[in-house]
Amino acid sequence: LRLYKESDEGIEAAAAAIKGGELAIIPTETVYGLAAKALDPDAVAKIFTAKGRPAENPLIVHIADPGDLEQVAASVPDGARRLISAYWPGPLTLVLTKTPLVPFRVTAGLDTVAVRCPAQPVARRVIELAGVPVAAPSANRFMEVSPTRVEHLDPELMEQAAVVLDSGPCEVGLESTIVDFTVNPPAILRPGGISRDQLERVLGAKLQITSEHRKAPGQYARHYSPKAKVRLVQSADPDAAALVFNKHGSRHFEMSSDPEQYGRDLYDALIQLDKSGADEIQIEIPPRTVEWEAVRDRIEKAAG
Ligand code: AMP
Ligand code: MG
Repeated sequence: LRLYKESDEGIEAAAAAIKGGELAIIPTETVYGLAAKALDPDAVAKIFTAKGRPAENPLIVHIADPGDLEQVAASVPDGARRLISAYWPGPLTLVLTKTPLVPFRVTAGLDTVAVRCPAQPVARRVIELAGVPVAAPSANRFMEVSPTRVEHLDPELMEQAAVVLDSGPCEVGLESTIVDFTVNPPAILRPGGISRDQLERVLGAKLQITSEHRKAPGQYARHYSPKAKVRLVQSADPDAAALVFNKHGSRHFEMSSDPEQYGRDLYDALIQLDKSGADEIQIEIPPRTVEWEAVRDRIEKAAG
């Protein structure tokens, strides 16, 4: 394992590892990703093994440039094109019909592929240098909290990677928004960095909500979970380990009332409370508005 701070040398090392069929842990604007060559089933298999991820849970394919989409997507509907012009590169994943180039190992046997063009400049340079589309789920063991800093990485998982590239804390801190364009109307499979409002504004149409949609593969009721039990509360007990909006107790972690900042801090807060040995974490329920959708989704899944 070689650990690099953000540098040309680190970017080259990560790209070479990916190109050579190895795993690299790389920064993106959402969370740190465990990256491998997406078009090579053997390389992709290493991701599933390292994460302990079930084979039925498909991976997102990352491309360096929106122009590379045609390699992996057989057709791109109009609406998808509009979202791409508005939000790529960025924290938006589109589900489209796959090309034969994409192995079924990546898509968990589906004829569709999830694709994203990340905005984080280091991620883009790694993918560009690797010269191939890159599968990169979050660099954590299955079900656990996604890392938004290198300090969050599980040492055993790190050992599975040839290279770890440290680029500091992730800008968004929550996983990408996933929109499925293989159903009509298109459906949000997972709320994330781009909000429903932002998507609908560009599309000029309503999106289906996940609950009305067929169950997406790899969507589990419990996910993004710390080791401590998570309980959602209206207002936290002053003695509890808790994520709160207004601090009272000593074990309270005061969170921003701005949803973007909250999203950036959430996983770090959960990981820190876990490390402090808390056996229960109380989380004050955020407002039921569209801006909070992604944060609420992750909190609900953390609670299981
Ligand atoms: P992550 O767990 O952040 O790597 O994101 C992967 C998630 O994207 C999966 O758990 C699925 O929910 C979703 N996904 C990936 N590929 C597809 C696909 N072809 N169709 C529907 N959802 C997908
Ligand atoms: Mg994940």
